[in-house]
Amino acid sequence: MLAAGLTGGIGSGKSTVAGMLSARGAVVIDADLIAREVVAPGGPAYEPLVRRFGSSALAADGQIDRPALAAMAFGDPQALADLNAITHPAIGAVMAARRFEHQGDGEIVILDIPLLVAAHRGALQLDAVIVVDCPPDLALERLVGLRAMEPSDAEARIAAQPSREERLVGADFVLDNAGTRDYLAGQVDSLWARLVELEAAGR
Ligand code: ADP
Repeated sequence: MLAAGLTGGIGSGKSTVAGMLSARGAVVIDADLIAREVVAPGGPAYEPLVRRFGSSALAADGQIDRPALAAMAFGDPQALADLNAITHPAIGAVMAARRFEHQGDGEIVILDIPLLVAAHRGALQLDAVIVVDCPPDLALERLVGLRAMEPSDAEARIAAQPSREERLVGADFVLDNAGTRDYLAGQVDSLWARLVELEAAGR
C-alpha cells in the first residue's frame, strides 16, 4: 500500500481532488467525516466535550452543536486549545486505525486532512504529501459563488488558516487549481500514475 496525505486551504479544491482520486481507485480517509463521528453521541469526544463546554455545546436533539462550539472557540484561545486537545487525539486515533488497516495491501490510501502538519507524516506513516494550491482570492470567489458561503465568513476562515506558503513547504506533489476542472483532472491523472508506480515500487 501507499499512504498519501492530501491537504489544501478551504476552497482550494481539496474535496474535489479527493473525489477525483477516489474515482481512480484510491481509498479516501476523510478527517472531516471522522471529526463528525468522534463527536457523535457514544463517540470518544462526546462526553469530554459536554464536560468541558456544558449544555451550551449541545443542540436540542442532544448532538454536539458544532457551529456553537466553533463560535465559542473563535477568539478564545483557551477554549480553542481545550477543544483541540479533546478532538484532535480522538480524530488522530481513528485516522491511524483506518490507515493501518491497509498496511501490506495493494491500496493507495489518501488521508484527506485539512490541517495537515509535519507530525502527521510520522504518526500516520505517510509516504507522500499532496497539496492542492489555489490563490486565496480565487478560493474565496469559489466558496462564495459555488458553496454559497457568506463573504465575511469565507474570508475569516481563509485568514485563520496557515498561509499558502506554509502549506507548500511540506509538499511532495502540488496540484495547481487556479485553472479549469479539466486542467485539475489532467494533473490528477499524472499524479495517480505516479502514485501507482510508487506503490508498485514499494512492494
Ligand atoms: P475544499 O475542499 O478545498 O474546501 P472544494 O473542493 O469544495 O474545496 O472546492 C470549492 C468549490 O470550488 C466547490 O464548489 C468546487 O466544486 C469548486 N471547484 C473546485 N475546483 C474548481 C475548478 N478548477 N474550477 C471551478 N470550480 C472549482
